Amino acid sequence: MLAVSDLVREPWDYRFAGFLTQQDQSVRGWGVVSFELEEIDWGHNDAEQARNKKFVLRVIDLALQRHRWDELTYDPPFAQRYLRQFKSMVEGFPPATATPDPGFPGFPGPDDAAMASCARHRVLSALPHWDSCIFCSR
Ligand SMILES: [Zn+2]
Repeated sequence: MLAVSDLVREPWDYRFAGFLTQQDQSVRGWGVVSFELEEIDWGHNDAEQARNKKFVLRVIDLALQRHRWDELTYDPPFAQRYLRQFKSMVEGFPPATATPDPGFPGFPGPDDAAMASCARHRVLSALPHWDSCIFCSR
């Protein structure tokens, strides 16, 4: 969330940020959060899909640089390894093969994008779906 909050520019980016807020295990429950890359609505054509995939990779790269990790109240010892694995998965994923289910709210639509920013923590929050940002909810 620290990385995506500082990189969002396009409407799809805010939807992806909303998607990340949905992965907050401290809100949804430990061990019950998961997703498939196929569930993500990567875009309607090759150009959109390529652009959005590049955005996700930029978010991962920024997080890998430990962007704003000094603001965390803990040291995440495995996060960089997981981020490298996630980056590898995204790099190898062909977005055109995604089959998001329009009836399944796995990937936020425009109305469910994370548009609000927590003034205290400067990260995006999916208000009103969550009461607060991922740091306030801890
Ligand atoms: Zn907050």
